[in-house]
Amino acid sequence: MNFYKYSRKFAHDRITFIGLGNMGTPMATNLLKAGKKVSGYDLNTEFVENFKKEGGHSDNLNQSIKESDVIFAMLPNFKASDDVWKNAYKHMKKGAFIIDTSTFSPVDAKVIGEEAKGKGFIPAICPVSGGVQGAKNGTLSFMIGSDKDQFEMLKTILQPMGKNFYYCGDFAGGQTIKICNNLCLAIQMVGFSESMALGVKLGADPKVVTEVMSTSTGRCYSVDTYNPVPGVLPNTPASRNYDNGYNNELMKKDLVIANECAESVKLDAEIGRMVRDYYIKLVDLGKEKKDMGYVYQYILGNKKV
Ligand code: NAD
Repeated sequence: MNFYKYSRKFAHDRITFIGLGNMGTPMATNLLKAGKKVSGYDLNTEFVENFKKEGGHSDNLNQSIKESDVIFAMLPNFKASDDVWKNAYKHMKKGAFIIDTSTFSPVDAKVIGEEAKGKGFIPAICPVSGGVQGAKNGTLSFMIGSDKDQFEMLKTILQPMGKNFYYCGDFAGGQTIKICNNLCLAIQMVGFSESMALGVKLGADPKVVTEVMSTSTGRCYSVDTYNPVPGVLPNTPASRNYDNGYNNELMKKDLVIANECAESVKLDAEIGRMVRDYYIKLVDLGKEKKDMGYVYQYILGNKKV
């Protein structure tokens, strides 16, 4: 039975948003600012109280799911998403959207998408890029994995939170590109951290290194936007003690997935394995909640923290 026809009748103004962490809170707040009625949930009650102060609701979760046209999840990993969706399926109305913006493996994305579709819901697995600042500014990029005929509707629903909307193919498509993006991000972050540590040890001023590299061939996101050296750029996690950014635990997750994907297609991703091991080590050293730019301190301290 095709449930998509039900969805077309919904206004998509009644939203349940699950996961109010570093990304989820600003994303859900932007939906509120766009005039949507949003109920937000998180295991951390402090985050829920803060969201209510922004004008959000947080009544009974299952009742909210039942009434919503769109259910969002912005969660740390597949296990959390899977738990949340298994509960949601029991309460959702047919034709409602499931939009999971968390990052997990393409294989798991396919599992969630096909299960939800089989139950009469409209799944879209849409990981994002742009970081906490992009979430706050409503300028995220969405990598959309869904049935193609839902793309226009999805763009309308996601509009308050983003600037770029890419159709990436089936349910696994968005996560495939997200994992490739984050593998590249980790490689450039570790690479820039190593070159910056070299410059600093040779006596260079990190602000001058950044200024020069920002207009030179070494320029990249880790140089001019997400610089890992404290005090070099404002509004970076490095300039707030590496807090509230993209934490090492999440980067480790992405790199484990990227390497598993590489193995599954017999790609020898040697640098991918190296950067994965940096982030495994940072988590082992108890730095799991620090931003991924903390790898600069690790390298500068000759692999000690
Ligand atoms: P976070 O750890 O700050 O937030 C996750 C939130 O989910 C936490 O507040 C946690 O309490 C909550 N949670 C966990 N299990 C739950 C459950 N069962 N029910 C309700 N709430 C639950 O993480 P984040 O930085 O917001 O990242 C979220 C996702 O977005 C991750 O998958 C990450 O890989 C991805 N992502 C993050 C960034 C970033 O810059 N932080 C950028 C792009 C993508």
